[in-house]
Amino acid sequence: MIIKPKTRGFICTTAHPEGCAKQIEQQIEYVKAQKKIQGPANVLVVGASTGYGLASRIAAAFGAGANTIGVFFDRAAEGARTATAGWYNSAAFEQAAQSQGLRSFSIVGDAFSNEIKAKTIDLIKSEFGQVDLVVYSVASPRRTHPDTGETFTSVIKPVGEAYSNKTMNFHTGEVSMTSIEPATEDEVRQTIAVMGGEDWKMWIDQLLKAGVLADGATTVAYSYIGPEITHPIYREGTIGKAKNDLEQSAHQLQALLSDKGGRAFVSVNKALVTQSSSAIPVVPLYISALYRVMKENGLHENCIQQMYRLFSEHLYNENAKDANCLIRIDDWEMREDIQAEVMKRWAQVETDNVDELTDLVGYRQDFFQLFGFESEGVDYEADTDANVDIPNLV
Ligand code: NAD
Repeated sequence: MIIKPKTRGFICTTAHPEGCAKQIEQQIEYVKAQKKIQGPANVLVVGASTGYGLASRIAAAFGAGANTIGVFFDRAAEGARTATAGWYNSAAFEQAAQSQGLRSFSIVGDAFSNEIKAKTIDLIKSEFGQVDLVVYSVASPRRTHPDTGETFTSVIKPVGEAYSNKTMNFHTGEVSMTSIEPATEDEVRQTIAVMGGEDWKMWIDQLLKAGVLADGATTVAYSYIGPEITHPIYREGTIGKAKNDLEQSAHQLQALLSDKGGRAFVSVNKALVTQSSSAIPVVPLYISALYRVMKENGLHENCIQQMYRLFSEHLYNENAKDANCLIRIDDWEMREDIQAEVMKRWAQVETDNVDELTDLVGYRQDFFQLFGFESEGVDYEADTDANVDIPNLV
């Protein structure tokens, strides 16, 4: 079939297999062109098919030569429906890993469930024996608790009082004011249940009990802080409450793992266009302005560059944590000069000057590339087979 993007708000319901493969190829090429990473040998990535989790898997495999298991929630093509981007990404990853003699396996299913955890543990036992790095990079709108059966839905809302600020429709470039009512207590509770640290702790606990976590193992999950203008909707909002919980969980995991020399971290990453971040109000306009300023200053990074920096400079460096036990690879985003310039533009930006002041073009391109569109060297008019198998799918 000929596959074109079909968007509904911040969602694209189609994905292009060759375009996704191209994106993977570029990420692999980037990592292979850098100095080899000294670090992990057998890696589990939970949430491995897109965004930061995918880039972590690529950095581990192609940067450090590690064996990897990726767990993710994606679907294959069916009838007239294409597969999801994460499916095509993982197919391309597995093919590339195989062709370079790296051992890798993929598990598709709900990481929040006991079944998928048990399946992953069995796979680690039979193929690797143990893993020495666990990356937790799940971003999801809902979670069913494996023990109680309660389904929680996460919301992106301020806490306490309503929040108004500029926002942008990145398809049209229209800048407008948005006002978001505060979350209820129950919405806060549910968002923490989805995006907080409970599931990360369950993973580590079960891996530990099953004896598949190597002595001295490292685990890392990802967080975001960002500038004050987004604090009411992000860091002090429902999602920020969940991130506080995630960061607390790192301390608990550190205590649990330290007996055998293990380590738990939260890495605070840069704001980037991913399927998850494009769903947050206000943030796409901030990211567009940030991209422009960081590109002008030669400081722009995408997921793979961030993850290469995390793996090569921070994760295996004892001095890499700040006073709050966080790894800060958002350091360039948060630099005073960068933020000052972004804020100057923020005050001025409106529909008429959005192209002049921000990198709306770059934002849009990154958004479509998440789904395998707008990749250079791909013929989007050509007939393509949407049915792609993931090698080593367990
Ligand atoms: P993403 O949407 O690109 O990736 C999410 C991954 O989780 C996908 O692989 C998806 O398949 C998987 N997933 C979702 N539900 C699942 C389930 N039930 N079972 C198994 N897998 C599931 O998101 P992302 O932006 O890369 O976010 C990853 C982490 O990075 C999150 O913790 C996020 O808060 C954090 N982060 C993101 C940004 C950003 O700007 N995008 C910045 C800093 C930190």
